[in-house]
Formats: sequence, structure tokens, C-alpha cells
Amino acid sequence: MKASIGKQRAAFARTKGICIICGRPLSNDESKWSPDHFIPRAIYKWVPSKRTQSLIESAGNIFVVHQWCNFDKDSALPTKQSISRMHASKDVLDDMRELYKATEDSIVAYRAIKQSTLDSQGRRCKICGRRLTLNGATLRRIDNRKERTRENAMCLCRNCNRKAASTSQKERMLGNASKRKRNHRPHKRQTGRPTR
Ligand SMILES: [Zn+2]
Ligand SMILES: [Zn+2]
Repeated sequence: MKASIGKQRAAFARTKGICIICGRPLSNDESKWSPDHFIPRAIYKWVPSKRTQSLIESAGNIFVVHQWCNFDKDSALPTKQSISRMHASKDVLDDMRELYKATEDSIVAYRAIKQSTLDSQGRRCKICGRRLTLNGATLRRIDNRKERTRENAMCLCRNCNRKAASTSQKERMLGNASKRKRNHRPHKRQTGRPTR
């Protein structure tokens, strides 16, 4: 469910048509807008809380940004520093700081799920095996028919996350990844001595 066009127009007015991520003007063409929940909705989906949910869905947390800016920020969680870097007036930043404080417990709990999932994968993308940092990783469900729990969680890189947008696509990619693992024995750890 996207933020309603009414909320998007209010957000556009609040930042005077400026993208909070890059500071450049947005198009007046509403079809080019990309609505952004600054504190991501994933947080209340993984850490259910009615209170956090209503704060994240509140008008103050919704912005309009460039589509490419939204892609870039993707999975990085908000921090006090990232709020300070927002291209917006002091009032908007102050509101965001309040919102951050009010949702901080949920953000911390979400980050812990993500960190422990990432660690259990050896800090690599579940699908392509690329090395991942916490900010570069996106938390997804392994099986979309099951609840969002730590057991059903995996971390993907941005690229795989984008490609695995649909359930069927995700299942196919996960299937291929586990086939690859079965067919190839993992490389031996380098010991410094040549192996035969
Ligand atoms: Zn932008
Ligand atoms: Zn990947």
C-alpha cells in the first residue's frame, strides 16, 4: 500500500518540492514522484507494534523523493546522523528527530534481527554470496507464506533484492542458489601453503 496522493502532496509542500535525499527539486509531474517512508515500514512489519505502526504511517514520516534516490537509500536504516543530512527545514528535521526517538526501540529491535540474520549467513548475500554490510543488506522473508520471524529471515544484497521482487522470482533464485551450493564444494580456507 503506497502513501495516498494526498499525503504525498502534503509532503511535497512540506519540503517545498525539494528531494530530502539529494536536495534537488522534484518534478511537478506527480507520476514521477516516489513516496518514501523515512523510517521504513519494514520495522513494524518485523517488530509488530501498533504504536510504531501509526507513527511510521503518520504524515510526518512520509516524503516524496526522486525514484533513483529512493533506490539508492533502499535498506539503510535511519540514524540521528542521517536525519541531520536531510535536505529540509529545521522544523521538518525537528519533527523527524521526535519521530525517531519515539520509534527508536523498534528500530533497535529490527536492526538486531537483521544483524543476527546477516551474521548467520557469514555476512554474505543469501542468493549471490556477495559480501554484505548491515546497511547494504535488505531483510526479506525466505518463505512468503510464513510469518516474519527470525527463522524465516534472510539478508539479500540490493541487486538480488530488486531481482527477487516477486514471490515466484524469489523462489526460483533461492532454488538456484541452493543447487549451486550442493554442486560445488566450498573452497578450502587458504592456509598460506600451496595445496595439491
Ligand atoms: Zn533526489
Ligand atoms: Zn545478492
